[in-house]
Amino acid sequence: MFHIPFDNSYARLPEDFFKKVSPSVPSMPTLIRVNTELASFIGLDVNWLESSEGLAMLSGQKLPQGADPIAMAYAGHQFGGWSPKLGDGRALLIGEVIAKDGVRRDIQLKGSGHTPFSRSGDGKSALGPVLREYIVSEAMAALGVPTTRALAAVTTGENVVRNAMEPGGVFTRVAQSHVRIGTFQYFYARQDNDAVKVLADYVIERHYPEALSADNPYAALLNLIAARQAELIAKWMSLGFIHGVMNTDNMQIAGETIDYGPCAFMDDFHPQKVFSSIDQYGRYAWGKQSEMGQWNLMRLADTLLPLIDDDLDRAKNIAQEAIQNFNQLFVKSIFTKFSRKLGLLCDHESQNDLIASTFELMTENEVDFTLFFRHLTKVYDGGDTDFLCQLFKDPAACENWLIIWHEYLARDDGNDKERLKIMRAHNPILIPRNHRIAEAIKAGEQGDFKAFHRLIDALAKPYDEQPEYADLEQAPEAVEIVHQTFCGT
Ligand code: AMP
Ligand code: MG
Repeated sequence: MFHIPFDNSYARLPEDFFKKVSPSVPSMPTLIRVNTELASFIGLDVNWLESSEGLAMLSGQKLPQGADPIAMAYAGHQFGGWSPKLGDGRALLIGEVIAKDGVRRDIQLKGSGHTPFSRSGDGKSALGPVLREYIVSEAMAALGVPTTRALAAVTTGENVVRNAMEPGGVFTRVAQSHVRIGTFQYFYARQDNDAVKVLADYVIERHYPEALSADNPYAALLNLIAARQAELIAKWMSLGFIHGVMNTDNMQIAGETIDYGPCAFMDDFHPQKVFSSIDQYGRYAWGKQSEMGQWNLMRLADTLLPLIDDDLDRAKNIAQEAIQNFNQLFVKSIFTKFSRKLGLLCDHESQNDLIASTFELMTENEVDFTLFFRHLTKVYDGGDTDFLCQLFKDPAACENWLIIWHEYLARDDGNDKERLKIMRAHNPILIPRNHRIAEAIKAGEQGDFKAFHRLIDALAKPYDEQPEYADLEQAPEAVEIVHQTFCGT
């Protein structure tokens, strides 16, 4: 029998950090997919994982020796409103392992049944959100975005009640940890500063050991978290990704994208684009994500003030600096990313004008975001401008834009040979398009996982030319457009 070398550090924290819970036992689980590469990376035996014992773990039927399932406590601001008690309502951290990179990873089951944090929910997951998280989180990893990962997806053989009866599933998530801004807020709201300190020390040791050598480790911690968030959000935006539910309970402290509920990659570009059915006021629109990331960091900073300095004013000043650093890092990073996407290898301030006017033109002309940069890369490689200009409602506007773009290229003192390489590395050919995800889910709910597997296989190499997947590049036809996405409950 294969033995998993679990080492469960979170379960060793004080007992009010979590509740011990056993997963509920599904009647007839079946395996849909195991991420074999990730499995071996975190030290699991792939053959074992695909065996009946592996399925027993992945479905929550029977956990292996050394697992210590817990539901983590956390709170959070949801769309700006305070929720003092959220916690893992439909997820269980079953244990931690050290992966091949020497970094600790959580293994978590999502949809494994009721916990003390479930409130009125059933603790289960429908199959749709399981397939969706698998597709999008693995696509994000391949696109080079820090993210939680998909280890496996299974069906439970049972139905769950949502809008209608839907097949149930369990998703196995792997993450650097599941500590969120909301975890800090949970203890802060209870005025339990000792617990905030225990959590901060835990996070420093696990994710930010470099903070230990700083004069003020907690100020350093805030700065380091802010820096990772700035880079993460810039990456999202450079790919047209809209997280959709950037509540503080969905902002992971280690800087990975977490919670693939109502997220979406936009087709046509619009800075105010929103997909989430519950985001009525566009709080988490594409172009607002850095501002919201900053708001979330301020909520984290609130919890750390007492640790940063005994003098509250001094602590606030230090926190303010970290927030400013976030802004500066974000602005620099997004500027660089869009410059590179446009093939500009140097960073002249005037490029801001080009970026801004490109956004304006793309908005006016309802240009597909991913195809625009994909075809621009082809144009630079000597391709026809027709494909690019056909993306515009007014192709002549594109021709004019190309003249200006060429002027910028001529002024750019970057290396010409490098340019194509850099454009290719910044402009993916494939993203998980909403209509393709919807299609894969629909078939999956009927027991047909071909589209699901094909999408995952294609998205493993999003920057490579893969003619066999050319159909997946295409923008949706009018009838295929997905206008709304939903929380993954
Ligand atoms: P989310 O919208 O996924 O960020 O979840 C917000 C909160 O709702 C978390 O505390 C979840 O654990 C909880 N939750 C979501 N879905 C369910 C469910 N089906 N059963 C119980 N709790 C849930
Ligand atoms: Mg969540």
